Amino acid sequence: MPLLEEIWESRILTNGGPFHERLEAALCDHLDIAHVSLVANCTLGLILALNVFGDGGEVITTPYSYVATAQSLLWNGMTPAFVDIEPDTFNLDPDRIEAAITPRTTAILPVHCYGVPCDVQAIRTIADRHRLPVIYDAAQAFGVRCGSDSVLRHGDASTVSFHATKVFNTFEGGIIVCRDADTKARVDRARNFGMAGACGVVSAGLNAKLSEFNAALGLLQLKHVGAGIVRRGEIDGLYRQRLEGCRGLRCPAPPPGVTTNHSYFPILCDPGRAPDRDAIHKRLARHDIHSRRYFHPLISQLPMYRNLPSAGRENLPVAHRIADTVLCLPIYPDLTDAMVHRIADLVVSA
Ligand SMILES: *Cc1c(COP(=O)(O)O)cnc(C)c1O
Repeated sequence: MPLLEEIWESRILTNGGPFHERLEAALCDHLDIAHVSLVANCTLGLILALNVFGDGGEVITTPYSYVATAQSLLWNGMTPAFVDIEPDTFNLDPDRIEAAITPRTTAILPVHCYGVPCDVQAIRTIADRHRLPVIYDAAQAFGVRCGSDSVLRHGDASTVSFHATKVFNTFEGGIIVCRDADTKARVDRARNFGMAGACGVVSAGLNAKLSEFNAALGLLQLKHVGAGIVRRGEIDGLYRQRLEGCRGLRCPAPPPGVTTNHSYFPILCDPGRAPDRDAIHKRLARHDIHSRRYFHPLISQLPMYRNLPSAGRENLPVAHRIADTVLCLPIYPDLTDAMVHRIADLVVSA
């Protein structure tokens, strides 16, 4: 039966219907994790997870991310404390976290940038020493593994985005990954107005439910996501073959032992190089090719955050250097080898 008719026939359009149940189970299986809560999008997932684990105050986070990371703090009345990133992974630099912890710190919110895992062990050690929860913004990390483990097993919770632009999508959607069934129960309550079955409303909550339509799309997409990631890997390899070693260009690679999802293909362009980053970006645009200056400007440069004590350029030199030179090239399963060569030609030619 066609999907929409099946949903209509079931008479359950949202509020945890059969497709919702099936997708949560299928994701646990696919991602090799035990406790998954579907949400309407990853930003709501972050807002919920921070509300469940956090407690106001300051939260250690990265300026080098999509703006949703910090906005989810703002909606909880939390203040971001920006810490600089590592030059190779673009993730929160564990060596700088402790210096930023104050008596007001209530949590750590790192991001697995471009799906490349953070130094999860080092972050765990610091968090344990200071008794802080760790909530990972894993929006870009669908299907990523470090060693033999899903990256989503780390931290007190992780949130993944199923937005249309991500590796796996339900048009809009996402998950919160929890460590145990009790926490999942709290998260499930919070995503449904704080409602606890027959007990009525027992805690803070909002509406972050995923509809049956989006859940059904997820079940369809799940069949194709593996092949999509394989094709992304081929494109990644072809870009590297063409661009690595070219004058003034660098193609950062994930550390050994990581199974990535090739969700992005960032390159770094030396500032002295001609054409420089912005010139390449414009040249590609003239040929109707959409590269992205992710993440420029930094979150710490936006009007809501730039006056914070941790937002100064001197506190974030690596993030500024990367934001000024990075360009993410198109990468998606339908991109042909011929297009990759054409893009590479436009990037390298003087
Ligand atoms: C995409 C993204 C988000 C937001 O996800 P939505 O599902 O669109 O709310 C948050 N953080 C990062 C790092 C992202 O890339």
